[in-house]
Amino acid sequence: MSEERLSPVADVQGPPEYDDWRELLEEGVLLGTECESCGWTTATPKRRCGECGNEQLEGIALPTTGDVYSETTINVTPAGFDDSYQIAIVDLDGTLLTAQIDGSVEIGDRVRFGDIVTPDGRPAPVFEPVE
Ligand SMILES: [Zn+2]
Repeated sequence: MSEERLSPVADVQGPPEYDDWRELLEEGVLLGTECESCGWTTATPKRRCGECGNEQLEGIALPTTGDVYSETTINVTPAGFDDSYQIAIVDLDGTLLTAQIDGSVEIGDRVRFGDIVTPDGRPAPVFEPVE
């Protein structure tokens, strides 16, 4: 992994915690977690590697553009959402992240991280189609 890829998350010491993830998300950085042993990555903080169980994990900056891996529309919305909306699993160079979609997408569409929503006070990423 290159130093350039690490730079946005260089001040995250040890395995990323939720607060690290939240703070960087609010700054426009998608903080992922990478296993130092096998290279497994995930888009949210974890205590252990999901592949090999290793606890030596480090923060990485995920790409902010990716491809729609899967999508669905939420018609029965939770509190804080007025209208139905689309969510997608976005493939960020092999790391999957679930995000709300601003606009409309289909599987395979290119999308980019554009905003966050905080319906319950906790931020979540919003992606938008790349024109
Ligand atoms: Zn691992």
